[in-house]
Amino acid sequence: MPGLRNAIFRTAMETLYFSGAHVLMRPLLGGVGAILTLHHVRPPRPDRFQPNRLLEVTPEFFERVIRRLRRSGADLVSLDEMHRRMIEGDFSRRFVCVTFDDGYRDTFEFAYPVLKKYEVPFAIYVATSFADRVGEMWWLALEAVIARNDLISLRIDGRDQFFDCRTVAEKRNLFDQLYWWLRRLKTEDELRHVVRELAARHRVDVVKFCAELCMTWQEIAQIAADPLVTIGAHTVNHVILAKVSETSARSELENSRAVIEAALGTRPEHFAYPVGDKTSAGPREFRIAAELGYKTAVTTRPGVIFRAHAGHLLALPRVSLNGDFQRPRYARVLVSGAATGLWNGFRRLNVA
Ligand SMILES: [Zn+2]
Repeated sequence: MPGLRNAIFRTAMETLYFSGAHVLMRPLLGGVGAILTLHHVRPPRPDRFQPNRLLEVTPEFFERVIRRLRRSGADLVSLDEMHRRMIEGDFSRRFVCVTFDDGYRDTFEFAYPVLKKYEVPFAIYVATSFADRVGEMWWLALEAVIARNDLISLRIDGRDQFFDCRTVAEKRNLFDQLYWWLRRLKTEDELRHVVRELAARHRVDVVKFCAELCMTWQEIAQIAADPLVTIGAHTVNHVILAKVSETSARSELENSRAVIEAALGTRPEHFAYPVGDKTSAGPREFRIAAELGYKTAVTTRPGVIFRAHAGHLLALPRVSLNGDFQRPRYARVLVSGAATGLWNGFRRLNVA
């Protein structure tokens, strides 16, 4: 149902914008700060079938948001500074942190020049298998299989099933269906197994997306040398942590930190849970991150930061800069915190 949910959200955003309600709600929902989530920042592509487009914004939209933030009076700060303010209770000024997930080359190519121009600190959460060129960006493999075929076959419960996907509408529909079916599988192993088989049948190379889209270690080292940049960990294999054993989850959090430290000489102190919604990271993952000594960890649960999050620094919500909402007026609503209030049902803390 992501489409319907987006439609409702968009209508609500328009209503908020035109009613000015976001200004009135600001003291209630604005919290003490916000952490923005970004994935891709890159020029738009013409393809009509882009089911993962919600993970990207254009460089122009990104610059508008950053310019607006710079003028907003909020402090654009690093994760370390956010952490300091949270533990010291220094809430005299509202803060915004800018974060990127996964370690895409377009973060370097398109986002970094904007952030440099406005001198904005930012963080990149690196999944180490992507930089190592062995990671499985399974959601892109699924997209490629559907994009390149009119008919696909998939083994479900030991039986081959066939799906027509000739038109763009059929492709979008099938992607949604299969994506959510995969996300509902009980274990990460099952998910990976299905996608590997699906990709092999349709001659899509699951690991080639890393080389195409992600930064090399050399590029990561180059960007990490800038004092504006914080490199955080994001597991080794980009697994949905809640769907692996406690031992595996712990080693994903530990090993990704070790690999980054070995590559860059700096030990990451901040972490982002892959996928990051409630079905991907919960109390067990928050506890592991705390036990391993991470200073902060972010989810993708939508929301702004409140004082009370000082007691939940390993379960921080974020505000997504989503490709579906690339109109300048949305940026203001998003940053005010009113929009995320819509998502989380006006609950202040969503940490269970
Ligand atoms: Zn990710």
